[in-house]
Amino acid sequence: MTTLRILLGDQLSDGVSALDGLEPATDIVLMSEVRGECTYVRHHKRKIVLVLSAMRHFADRLRDRGVRVEYVALDDPLNTHSIRGEMLRAVQRFQPQRVVATEAGEWRLLQDMSGWQEASGVPTEIADDTRFLCSHRQFRHWADGRRELRMEFFYREMRRRHGVLMDQDAPAGARWNFDAENRKRMPATKRPPVVPSFEPDARTQAVMALVEREFAGHFGDLAGFDLPVTAEQAILALDHFVNERLAEFGDWQDFMRSGDPVLFHALISTSLNTGLLDPLVACRAAEAAWRQGAAPLNAVEGFVRQILGWREYVRGIYWLRMPDYGKLNALGATRKLPWFYWSGETRMNCMAQVVADTRAHAYAHHIQRLMITGNFALLAGLDPDQVDEWYLIVYADAYEWVEMPNVRGMALFADGGVMASKPYAASGAYINRMSDYCSGCQYDVRTAVGENACPFNFLYWDFIARHQERLGGNPRMAMPVRTLGRMDPQRVATMRAQASAFFDAVDAGAIV
Ligand code: FAD
Ligand code: SF4
Repeated sequence: MTTLRILLGDQLSDGVSALDGLEPATDIVLMSEVRGECTYVRHHKRKIVLVLSAMRHFADRLRDRGVRVEYVALDDPLNTHSIRGEMLRAVQRFQPQRVVATEAGEWRLLQDMSGWQEASGVPTEIADDTRFLCSHRQFRHWADGRRELRMEFFYREMRRRHGVLMDQDAPAGARWNFDAENRKRMPATKRPPVVPSFEPDARTQAVMALVEREFAGHFGDLAGFDLPVTAEQAILALDHFVNERLAEFGDWQDFMRSGDPVLFHALISTSLNTGLLDPLVACRAAEAAWRQGAAPLNAVEGFVRQILGWREYVRGIYWLRMPDYGKLNALGATRKLPWFYWSGETRMNCMAQVVADTRAHAYAHHIQRLMITGNFALLAGLDPDQVDEWYLIVYADAYEWVEMPNVRGMALFADGGVMASKPYAASGAYINRMSDYCSGCQYDVRTAVGENACPFNFLYWDFIARHQERLGGNPRMAMPVRTLGRMDPQRVATMRAQASAFFDAVDAGAIV
């Protein structure tokens, strides 16, 4: 009996459920590079290179195990350029008795998969994606009947369930969360270790040439591409992080520095999200470092919380709330995404730095995404659809299941508080405290009105004033709303007029 097994570009794991029970003698694994997946949003060139190169390397890995792989390259003249089209073409060619796939990570693709059996006329099994540490059913069970779906409580349950950083029934170090210790300002003299670089081999170089040719108009640079594209490289990158950067990950986790988006971060999201790296392996490696005395608990707990907590939680929220989640716009934001999100041409040094990092590396760390580009979008009231699309395009680790809740929920508060208990709105003071951006900026972070006033200051108060009715009812936002109420009304009016003039200038195409 021949089984046709379909593998997608983010399913590159030896243990993926589509390969369960694989019979190398008779089964065929279909892997297809399709234009539809590269262009449904115009992904950063680095992301396309990463996925196609990792797919080609994974196909080699399977062939080395004696598996028959039917690999459809992007420039194959018969390529139909959709996953469904390639599945149907393979069914016609190989006449399998059944089709097996692992559920897609994105809602739109899973919807499509649900019609495969009818379209092909062949029994089709869509298996759960067991590479995640919380299944859809488990998340639904956790969420059922809860008034609030706070990540912290989900995370504790995940720690217990997987026995990570637990001493019997108690959390290691007698505390679940060490976040309060993780907000330090990095001294200018501090030099983070150099991150490992994976030189593109001949396979990756061929993909780079293909992408430069086929997707020339897409955002981003390919120069210096050095991301891990195999499981072996992903493990080397993890080991390097655990040995060299983990111990200080917690301390500097929230700090942002010009020209260095990585600092002490792990740089493993692309490997986790393509399937090259197992999330539990990453958590256990960090825990082992703590148990051996090589890294402190605040760093290790902070790292584990990102993976076992946040990563699984955002996926749970996505599948619990889709497709409606993708339409939420609780704050009624409608403003167009300013051009400087693409060009980086702005006098706001923080925005220019993050866009430059993003263009060059298809990477920015969490606080850059949340508190710079995300914060600006929140304060300015940018349309969530456009912001969502930008984030999905520009990052090499972007897949809708993880990108959308982070953008709509965390950054924009567009879900009205499903994920975050308050909007992550901040003025220039926060950015000045947690970065070196303001010292190199044409604006003055200490002023909120006048020619050189930092836009994050007057936009912040304009945001609080615009939404004061709604925010006043939120205990965590009561303080800024009260402060606004105590301000001189003339000053508030001046800041709001300055915000309005700022938006007029953006709309007129001026460099702001
Ligand atoms: P580290 O900071 O070293 O953290 C380790 C790992 O924890 C990451 O690799 C990631 O897998 C996980 N993690 C940390 N925070 C989160 C989170 N909030 N949600 C999910 N996983 C998390 N992450 C993506 O993988 N894809 C995205 O498209 C994406 N979009 C984002 C958009 C916004 C607006 C924000 C605020 C965050 C987004 N994140 C996204 C989460 C986070 O910023 C990235 O996972 C992280 O920056 C990746 O870099 P790293 O591997 O160096 O992470
Ligand atoms: Fe950003 Fe304002 Fe600081 Fe400039 S002064 S870098 S605009 S926060």
